[in-house]
Parts: sequence; structure tokens; C-alpha cells
Amino acid sequence: MDANGWRQQVISAWQQFDEDTLNLWQEHKQKGGSIYCRKACGNCCTLTVNCSYPEAVILASALTPRQHDLVLARLPLLEQLCSAATDLKTFLVSHRNQAGGCPFLDSEECCSCYADRPLSCRALLSTRPEAWCGVDFSTLHPLEKQAFLSSLDAEVVAYPSHYLARPLEQAAAMEKSLDDEFAMQYGVKISGNLIWLLGLELNSQISERLARQEEGIIDWLLQQQEQYPYLLQVTESP
Ligand code: SF4
Ligand code: SF4
Repeated sequence: MDANGWRQQVISAWQQFDEDTLNLWQEHKQKGGSIYCRKACGNCCTLTVNCSYPEAVILASALTPRQHDLVLARLPLLEQLCSAATDLKTFLVSHRNQAGGCPFLDSEECCSCYADRPLSCRALLSTRPEAWCGVDFSTLHPLEKQAFLSSLDAEVVAYPSHYLARPLEQAAAMEKSLDDEFAMQYGVKISGNLIWLLGLELNSQISERLARQEEGIIDWLLQQQEQYPYLLQVTESP
């Protein structure tokens, strides 16, 4: 598949996902449910965002010079947090406490790359007010935590979270499909932290080097994964 084929595949997945999500949102409302997501509501953007590499390639090609600089400026902190972490949980906690939100959040708490944001960002539909999207559950009193959990409708949310389950499941299936196509073309699946993947593409032109079958590039990626296990996942296809 050529570069334009990749672009179209990712863009079609995003369009289909948005259409399905809108329908699901309306269906949920008709059944008496509430979704609290709205513009300029950025608590979810303080969470670590992971995505598929094909999506990162498309977003990387759409970045403005300022966004490009913001990505590069975030890389040293990510590297430092990953190197200092002893496991994924400590990485996520330190990221949440020190990274200060996605670099694409603008001064009005809006996503400055909204049209090209990855599926994992599109997939969060909150059945609770935004304050719950920023809560650090480890700091809650056990009774408060229990009250929150009991209030969730386990039939519709991805329990124990308060996000609708269906969009999360659909996003995971679409990401897998994008990863599989990429692996069929290039012999490797790559996913990981959104900003780290953007940095890889901007600094190291991975998609271009894979496309021209540069010798040693997959081994290099596997080494990168060993060095940055909480930022990058690489699987070589058989
Ligand atoms: S997921 Fe939460 S923080 Fe994000 S837009 Fe929805 S309500 Fe707001
Ligand atoms: S890419 Fe946009 S929607 Fe996703 S975390 Fe960043 S600011 Fe939020």
C-alpha cells in the first residue's frame, strides 16, 4: 500500500468512527443516558494517550510548525519519566503528575489537532461530569470510590471506568485493523505513546525508512522498545 493508501485508510477509519459515535451518542440519550463531553473540556487530555503508528504518521504530516516544536519539546521529559519508572504504573502516575496535559491542548482547553486526533482520543465518551475524568482514584476515600463504582451502569460503561464501552471496543478493533495492515506492508507493528510516536516519525522518518526496506530498521525499533518500554511497543511480524 502506498503512502496515499495509508492516509486514506486512517482517514476513513476516523470518519466511520465519528459517524458511529454520533449515532451511539443519540441512542444513549434516547434511552435516558447522559454524555458530558463538550468543547473545551480537557480533563481527559491529562491522561496518557496511546495510538497506532499509522495514525501517528498521518497526524505528524498534518502538524503546524508550532505543534511540531511542541512535540519535540515534550520528548526529553517523556524520556526522563520512562527511564526513571520502575513499572508501567509508576510511569503513568509520574506522567500524570509532571507532564501537565497533552501539548496539543490550547489556551482554551481545546484540542488544536482535533481533526487529526487519534482513535483513542475520539473514543472517550464520559457518562459522568468532566471532574471525574481528572480524578486520581488512588487519592479517593474508599467509601467515595465505592459510591462512584456503584453508580456506574456496568451494562454500558467499560467498568470500572465511566466511559461508554462500545466506542472503546470499536476504537480497539479499528486500531488493530490499522496495525495489521501496516504489519502486512512493513513486517512490523508499532504502537505507543502518541507524542513519542510523533517524535519518532518527525525525527527518524520511520514510515519512509520502512517503506524503502532500510536494512536494520526493525532491529533498531526493537532496541528502542527495550530502552523505552512504557513509550513504545514493537512487534515483528512472522
Ligand atoms: S472525556 Fe471527560 S474531560 Fe474529556 S471531553 Fe468528555 S467529559 Fe470532558
Ligand atoms: S490529541 Fe487532542 S484530544 Fe487527544 S489528548 Fe491531545 S489535546 Fe486531547
